[in-house]
Amino acid sequence: METLTDCIFCQILAGKKPARMVYQDETVAALEDIRPQAPVHLLVIPRRHLNSLREVSEEDEAVLGHLLSVASQLARERKIEAQGYRVVINNGNWAGQTVDHLHLHVLGGRVFHWPPG
Ligand code: AMP
Ligand code: ZN
Repeated sequence: METLTDCIFCQILAGKKPARMVYQDETVAALEDIRPQAPVHLLVIPRRHLNSLREVSEEDEAVLGHLLSVASQLARERKIEAQGYRVVINNGNWAGQTVDHLHLHVLGGRVFHWPPG
């Protein structure tokens, strides 16, 4: 499993940094965002380090699909499914990516606007 010692999410996955984990399986994990931007703000991350969507290849298709599936499952469990929720992946500087370990934001519990800022 590829891990980066200086990557905060890899450190969390290795149990070296604390986090409020809400879901874990063999390939992905989910945690509470430390600076929530909505009443529900979860991050769904692959265990294998990928910087962003810019680095994915065909071999990552299964885990990418699983990330979305887990996001959907967590949205149901958190009861944000009926009202609607947002799933966001920031990729690179202009999109505002601050942690270079691919992650899905799952946001819900309030109204979101479009286009995003
Ligand atoms: P992004 O800006 O899309 O790269 O999102 C990174 C997210 O990770 C931000 O929403 C941060 O609040 C969140 N974050 C950073 N460090 C931690 C941490 N140690 N535990 C949980 N969430 C974190
Ligand atoms: Zn990482």
